[in-house]
Amino acid sequence: MSEAAKKPKRPRVNVRRPDVMTQVNAEVERHFRSSLVEKIRAAGGEITLGNTTVRLAQQFGFCYGVERAIDLAYASRRVFPDNRIFLIGEIIHNGEVNRQLVDMGIVSLPWEQLTGDYDQLGEEDVVIVPAFGAPTNFMDKIEQRGCYVVDTTCGDVMKVWRRVRTYAKDGITSIIHGKAGHEETRATASRAMGENGKGHYLIVLTLDETDSVCRYIREGGDKVAFLERFAHAVSDGFDPDLHLTKVGVANQTTMLKSETEEIQRRVRDAVVARDGSPDNYLVFDTICGATQERQDALFEMLRRPMDMLFVVGGYNSSNTTHLVEIGEQELPTFFIRNAECLESLDQIVHFDLHEKSEISSGYPDVLLGDQPAVIGITAGASCPNNLIEDTIFRIFEMRGVPRDQVKAI
Ligand code: SF4
Repeated sequence: MSEAAKKPKRPRVNVRRPDVMTQVNAEVERHFRSSLVEKIRAAGGEITLGNTTVRLAQQFGFCYGVERAIDLAYASRRVFPDNRIFLIGEIIHNGEVNRQLVDMGIVSLPWEQLTGDYDQLGEEDVVIVPAFGAPTNFMDKIEQRGCYVVDTTCGDVMKVWRRVRTYAKDGITSIIHGKAGHEETRATASRAMGENGKGHYLIVLTLDETDSVCRYIREGGDKVAFLERFAHAVSDGFDPDLHLTKVGVANQTTMLKSETEEIQRRVRDAVVARDGSPDNYLVFDTICGATQERQDALFEMLRRPMDMLFVVGGYNSSNTTHLVEIGEQELPTFFIRNAECLESLDQIVHFDLHEKSEISSGYPDVLLGDQPAVIGITAGASCPNNLIEDTIFRIFEMRGVPRDQVKAI
């Protein structure tokens, strides 16, 4: 019997009461809305002042899942003004949003493993589950402690869970395309073990990792070396000789669509090469609509010439990272946290995906020179519009257009 099963579950509290939501909506708007972004969108997504054009992608910024998670977190504070409120890790991957929650007295708990902090929780405490969800052992623990639970897990993430649970019930191993250390993928992997905990999963991130798995599916190989390579990316007791027989592919909701499709194709081909048929291969594309729309909008934006692109968002945001990957194939692309990264006339602080660290670079000549420039901006699903607004002001400022002139559009 699991710990949670020893006690009846505390009923979930509805924090989205109409009286509360009126106040929450006003507060969220005040913190994250941008009238400038709305004006530019209404004008077709582009603004030219002097010899500088700033172009916004057709879709960027907060998705429905993120908006809902933030609303629920804000509502929790209002419904439980005097209780201690905790959050498993971060509500979403954006420093600005997480800072607002800290200011509201919401305390982040460790998300990588269950620590003693969870044993200190009591029945009057509130625990918020983030938009990515949380692994089953975390959910068991907070329910066993009897806390109020405000679950903001996105419906699109839960769709993936339903899929991998079905795989587990049918004795199919889930091959999950995602980052093994990402909150969502950890939560999904725990569901891939099924209700009885006997299901199996294997997480792959790159095409190179996928090729190793495909080689093993086709020809078998060195089991010890295989398990060493995927040591932190497989279920307990995973045996590639047994658990790659029937496989089903699923993916973290925020992956790059083209890469996920390639992984699906390679795994299918490997199964067909081994069995002569695809009967032991299943697939379910679980990239969420919001991720897809933001990727599609960027591809569309890149069809027209631009001089450079800023992608704004948290450096640990998966969907934002993929926008950067798309952009940098085509033009100088800078992944920035916020406008403060545009430090001075000769420095952009930005995250280098290849170095995996924040670095400083000089601006491309286009930003410094007097010639006309078209500068694109997009942002991941966890980036609020106020950060985009600050970036727009800063770009124009560096191109010699004062803030008041931008405000007046
Ligand atoms: S990015 Fe997709 S899965 Fe994640 S919260 Fe937004 S809609 Fe949900």
